[in-house]
Amino acid sequence: MTALLRGARIVNPRQQLAAFFAAFIALFAVLLGSTSAAAAPLAHNNNNAPGSVAVVTSTANGKTYVIGTDTTFAPFEFRDTSGEMTGIDMDLIRAIGKDQGFNVEIRSLGFNAALQALSSNQVDGVIAGMSITDERKKIYDFSEPYFESGVQMAVAANDDTVKSYEDLKGKTVVAKTGAEGETFAKSIADKYGFTVQSLDQSATMYESVKSGNAVAVFDDYPVLAYGIAQGNGLKTVTDKEAGGSYGFAVNKGKNPELLAAFNDGLAKLKANGEYQKILDKYLAAPKNTSSGSFFDLLGTALPALMKGLGNTLLVTAISFVFAMILGLIFGFMKVSNNIVLRGIATTFVNIFRGTPLLVWAFFFYFGIPQITGQPINIWVAGVLTLALNSGAYVAEIVRGGIQSVDPGQLEAARSLGLGYGKSMQRVVVPQAFKIMTPSLINQLIIMLKDSSLLLAIGFTELLYQAQQIYAANFRVTEVLIIVAVIYFIAIFLLTKLANYADRKFNR
Ligand code: GLN
Repeated sequence: MTALLRGARIVNPRQQLAAFFAAFIALFAVLLGSTSAAAAPLAHNNNNAPGSVAVVTSTANGKTYVIGTDTTFAPFEFRDTSGEMTGIDMDLIRAIGKDQGFNVEIRSLGFNAALQALSSNQVDGVIAGMSITDERKKIYDFSEPYFESGVQMAVAANDDTVKSYEDLKGKTVVAKTGAEGETFAKSIADKYGFTVQSLDQSATMYESVKSGNAVAVFDDYPVLAYGIAQGNGLKTVTDKEAGGSYGFAVNKGKNPELLAAFNDGLAKLKANGEYQKILDKYLAAPKNTSSGSFFDLLGTALPALMKGLGNTLLVTAISFVFAMILGLIFGFMKVSNNIVLRGIATTFVNIFRGTPLLVWAFFFYFGIPQITGQPINIWVAGVLTLALNSGAYVAEIVRGGIQSVDPGQLEAARSLGLGYGKSMQRVVVPQAFKIMTPSLINQLIIMLKDSSLLLAIGFTELLYQAQQIYAANFRVTEVLIIVAVIYFIAIFLLTKLANYADRKFNR
């Protein structure tokens, strides 16, 4: 262990290491214990503060509630041209909040992710065109219904082959993960002999039908009607199915005051005509928003994409620092003579190299809060995921680097009278570090690209922002091309910078 610490000190001075260590321990404390001040300001924390009894206050007045919603489910929720979440659900929850004196903080997560977030108390409520079903009533509490809906099938506008469910035989259809459309499609799939493929977003479902990867999509009829009117390239050929009504949901037994406030506010908005006004605003005459040149698109999309890029770079930088610390510690443990240290390090590497990144992202963000009952800040979950995964690879890079230094170097240093630690510090590690640098740069770049996976938990990185944009304007291809170019430029510059640093420090 002493060799290890001395070794680590060569690359990072002791104080720096200690500071990093403290920060890392603090991060774990956040994970294991209470939420940090920076963590999501969930209103129910007020009620469940340590030491206090969970009291149910009769009012939601003055609180801020975190509300999860779908990425895009226009006209219920979508982003307007300025990037703000808008739509019937958004107007409704904000108007009710105003009437009842509570604030809302919207998290656009995607439908399935929003439900997971609600189950793990990462959000206080969900409003997402969510149908009230018996299955869901077992795990969530619903408000009074606020909109009647139902599932319908849509096909590509230029498709003349599919006119009924019978025509789906042998074909593939798409539906949204966890949504009523998916349940319905699956319930008739065997009868009509088609396959259901599930996707997370309305925009990618529609794109899939237009590109011919699927012949039809099952989605809620008001959403299909709105998209069709906007020129999304689809048409409906069958009648809508009788379906559920939408309700606002909270986790079972949680935030009852919020549910009561929602019901009370909804009744008032219905009585004073504001509810109807909100519906008319979005349902009366949807305008086509998917026109405009590529440069118009670039102009409107760039600010949001740059914000995403900023978060991508920041989460990568922070995670890389922690990955380096973990990698150095476990890398030195892997070359130690102590069998226990070697065993611990090998286990760490095997676990995090042998499991997908996304599993850990879900585990930290949705899994741990379900076990502990404490929400976790998305940055903490993101950094833990990336740092632990990359830490395993860095450990192997460090081990490989040290082992690739000619053993004669150590022997020569020892024979000159230097102790083991000093020999490592002065002779072996500087050489090892030179060997490691290109692999570490590689690892940094891999990590930057991998950080896009965090979009699955709703982390607002670059690709997440892109999804939000094409979910609203259906211009999937162009937005993805822009994103690819941004990633390319960022990684190109990062590589140049890293190589420059390599030349400067490793001469
Ligand atoms: N109404 C559907 C459901 O609740 C779909 C909701 C959505 O896709 N946002 O399952």
